[in-house]
Amino acid sequence: MLSDRHTSRRLLLVAAGMSLLGVAGCQGSQGADGGSATPGAEAAGAASDGPAAAPASAAPSVPSAPSASSVPQSAAPSPVSSAPASSAPGPAASGSPVAAPRPVAAAESKPVYELDAERRVVALTIDDGPDPRHTPTVLALLEQYRIRATFFLIGENAAVHPDLVREIAARGHHIANHTWTHPDLRNLSDARIRDELERTSDLLNKATGKPPTWFRAPGGDWSTASLKIAADLGMRNMAWSVDPRDWARPGTAVITDRILKDVRPGAIVLNHDGGGDRSQTVAALKKYLPVLIDSGYYFTAPPG
Ligand SMILES: [Zn+2]
Repeated sequence: MLSDRHTSRRLLLVAAGMSLLGVAGCQGSQGADGGSATPGAEAAGAASDGPAAAPASAAPSVPSAPSASSVPQSAAPSPVSSAPASSAPGPAASGSPVAAPRPVAAAESKPVYELDAERRVVALTIDDGPDPRHTPTVLALLEQYRIRATFFLIGENAAVHPDLVREIAARGHHIANHTWTHPDLRNLSDARIRDELERTSDLLNKATGKPPTWFRAPGGDWSTASLKIAADLGMRNMAWSVDPRDWARPGTAVITDRILKDVRPGAIVLNHDGGGDRSQTVAALKKYLPVLIDSGYYFTAPPG
């Protein structure tokens, strides 16, 4: 078992640089991926979660060797984001150098639903932030378990909390584009779609010094135009394969159970740290992350 774990760690290095394959059939029906969650289930779920989520119970599951950390492993330079050093400062740059995005080939513009992984690798994605109520707690949890995740940020939230954007990036996580206002892209003109994506990419670029290389449509509601525009702006489209519908606040136990039931090697898990009260999601992370780690799973942020 121990040797198997070491093997998996080595392979994660490979996984960090691997290419991703889109797997059809997981159509996003997330609906209100954020804003309009029903408040009904909130009290019961949140109230019953606290005691079981004590960090102490999770501590033994943290890999003991620092080298086991998924943070440095998945920090390998990504082939897509490594645009030639064209780091000319943007017109409104606030200090950070800004790299120009490089368009993505049309063949790579279709949404990616799972990682192409045979090993027990999971990509954790966290949407709709940053949100000062929850993002710092999530970051602390990810650090505790040495997990590297991908944050799909909403531009208007990022504009209000630039410190959180920089904090997410400084901790080694991927920062990705989730539109400026979280609209249903299927209802927008091409010009408005481009504005939603481009404005957000520009902001994240200026905040972190590099353009985001992944985009996720709100609710997973892609359109032909949005796929193409994202590719034109240098972003691949990332969907998900495990959706606990945490945005609807079904209760921490339900969120946890859905994830543990559906996760398999290569899964892309969808969680939220913004768009409303996400205390159930935070509590669920405390429960399911150590379980997955104990089950031999490793976390990665897909390379750009
Ligand atoms: Zn969203």
